[in-house]
Amino acid sequence: MFSVRGAHTRLHPTALVRGFSSKMLADPSQKYRPYKPIQLADRQWPSRVTRSAPHWLATDLRDGNQSLANPMTIPQKTQIFELSLQCGFKEIEVAYPAASDTDFAFVRGLIEKKMVPDDVWLQVLTAAREDLIRRTVDSVAGSKLAVIHMYNATAPTFRDVVFRNTMEETIALAVKQTELVRKLTDECSAKTGTHFRYEYSPECFTQTEPEFAVEVCEAVKKAWGKAGSDYENKIIFNLPATVEVAPPNHYADQVEYFCRNISEREKITISLHPHNDRGAGVAAAELGLLAGGDRVEGCLFGNGERTGNVDLVTLALNLYTQGVAPNLDFSDMQHCIDVVTQCNDLPVHPRHPYAGELVFTAFSGSHQDAIKKGFESQTKRHAAAAAEGKPQYWDMPYLPIDPADIGCNYEAVIRVNSQSGKGGIAYIVKQHMQLDMPRRMQIAFYQVIQDIADREAREMSIEDITTAFRKTYHLGSQHEGRLALRSFKVSTVEGSSADDADAPRRFDGTVTVDGVPRVIRGDGNGPLSALLDALRENLDVDLHIREYTEHSIGQGTSVKAASFVELTDPKADPRDKSKAWWGVGIDSDIAGSGLHAVISAVNASLGDRALPELKLNVGYSTRSGPADVASKVLNGLQLEIPRRMQAAFFEVVQRAARETNNEISADKLVELFRRTYFRAAQKVQLGGFKAEQTSADGRRRLEVELAVEGASKQVVGEGNGPLSALLAGLQSQVDGNIVLREFSEHSIGEGADVQAASYIELQFTSNDGAKRSAWGVAVDEDITASGLKAILSAFNGLDVPLKN
Ligand SMILES: [Zn+2]
Repeated sequence: MFSVRGAHTRLHPTALVRGFSSKMLADPSQKYRPYKPIQLADRQWPSRVTRSAPHWLATDLRDGNQSLANPMTIPQKTQIFELSLQCGFKEIEVAYPAASDTDFAFVRGLIEKKMVPDDVWLQVLTAAREDLIRRTVDSVAGSKLAVIHMYNATAPTFRDVVFRNTMEETIALAVKQTELVRKLTDECSAKTGTHFRYEYSPECFTQTEPEFAVEVCEAVKKAWGKAGSDYENKIIFNLPATVEVAPPNHYADQVEYFCRNISEREKITISLHPHNDRGAGVAAAELGLLAGGDRVEGCLFGNGERTGNVDLVTLALNLYTQGVAPNLDFSDMQHCIDVVTQCNDLPVHPRHPYAGELVFTAFSGSHQDAIKKGFESQTKRHAAAAAEGKPQYWDMPYLPIDPADIGCNYEAVIRVNSQSGKGGIAYIVKQHMQLDMPRRMQIAFYQVIQDIADREAREMSIEDITTAFRKTYHLGSQHEGRLALRSFKVSTVEGSSADDADAPRRFDGTVTVDGVPRVIRGDGNGPLSALLDALRENLDVDLHIREYTEHSIGQGTSVKAASFVELTDPKADPRDKSKAWWGVGIDSDIAGSGLHAVISAVNASLGDRALPELKLNVGYSTRSGPADVASKVLNGLQLEIPRRMQAAFFEVVQRAARETNNEISADKLVELFRRTYFRAAQKVQLGGFKAEQTSADGRRRLEVELAVEGASKQVVGEGNGPLSALLAGLQSQVDGNIVLREFSEHSIGEGADVQAASYIELQFTSNDGAKRSAWGVAVDEDITASGLKAILSAFNGLDVPLKN
């Protein structure tokens, strides 16, 4: 199929697509002959099932090695040998020792350095020629277990064309050289104690007439003369598909035919040796096992001449995923890949079964969705099965094997590009952030990732996705949005019972608005609606909650709450997706996580929209309480008035409001506060002061310069600190008694601009017993000065005459 747009049209704007100038024949039957089916009407293999693993022969060091452009060095061969042992191979074809001195030396090295475990067979290959056989037997002398593998050509092409042998001559050669192997191995056993088995290959079995293959093997068996019925004494007949030229069912027929016609089947190990020219090597081996094969010869990842030998990794794991122990261990697949690719200098294809880097990966959205759901339902199913003591079966869409079983993690399972869907992205967020997004939020966040993936035209890494998530939902201090929740308190509204779950809630909190702190308050049915009310009242942000969910993260004392909220604009069409915003909040406290989620969603809704300045016109009304009034002072002056002072100022405000129809604007309120406590034209003001530590018990002496209605007056007092010293000094100037009832202070601003705010309440008792009290407030860069000024502010409020 060709695209009518894109690259093709740019290259050939008007040309018709004609295809290649074909060398392929219109009628290939004039060049290629089909295979000849075997007449095996009652074939048994199609209805058999493989329920146990075959014996394995690893031939990476022989068949695999001889196919390499650069054959392996001895250190590389040693690495492959060790890997074969690690994987659990008990039979390893290590060389064609008569073919090269390197091969011979390698085999001798394994034996002399005692690198071969006692239960591992070293197999060596030889052609049916006397000198080669002698050297081959010599190569394994002294090993504990050895297999001599001899082949001769039995297929008609070789008989007729290459060797010009008749059938009789072919049999005679196989018999003669088998007898030689028997004689030499008997001698060697007597000398060195090596236990030998014999493997014979009619070469190439699949292209040899089936009845002739049986005839040759019968003769070889007779010549060997000592096949026994236990595994270590059986004769091995290898049935190689040296070149794969027919479909796998035909190979199975050939194997079944051989097994049914050879005599003394119980004394024979049938070995299968498929190659992969038609891409069906694995299938041929599997069907061949059903047809009677006992043993499979192959290479890791299917190395071998041309298209390779059958891949033993795939075969073993195919069995494993059928619940059959393969007796091979690929639990560190990456190590196997590393060793083999390094030694063979060949890559493993990214889509190679079980081993390729992409084989557990789903890019497609619908697959990712299914896998995510599959994991979720499997977790539940496994928990239920575990509770009942039943097996926890693996049953996962698109994943025939648990990647963990072969040493992979689940990171590769879902990868995200522009083809991916919400499920995969949600899966990654869940895996890496422990956040389980509600379904509709998955769609919204998917759009965010799609836009990035489209824009950047590349695969999204896990980090790309988690970073995008944090940025989008303003998680973490470096991703703070225009609004941020600094502190909050949720309480029941005054007048309702705290025990009543349905009682209206009040939100009091400080949020930063574009970096500037602001106090907001709102009421609602619950904390979230109270916050939304506060945002509506203070910031003209009018949003409603459409969806809210929460779940816990972690366990025990470190458990946290995650909340997800979707807000909508009540004035917009509910179907308008651009008027709905998701937010996420995480907090150790569940109410906190919900409030953070609302702020997160509000941030998404704000964009660059200008937010209203403080609503100074709404100050005091008959609805207001002391805390409302205090919040205006905080917003206007950044002063956090102590609770009892709030009540005092509230009375001041109420008195003032009587003259203004019970309403005072916020800026008027702030002005009233200044007038009441800062008292620009105060009677008594601080001129200067000097504090000294005077006594061993730390008491201070304070000298204060006061300006009393323009005139300077010196006051001296002693106390535990400067404030009590000033109080003592003032006390000496009045008739009556002054006590400090309350004192608090806090800082305003940060860094070099920090200031201290002090709040003081003084009570005066006159000599006739009358009491009155007053609050004072002061702000100064110097904390002592701010305290002293606050005392004088309160003292002025008491309005007590000074003695002359
Ligand atoms: Zn081969």
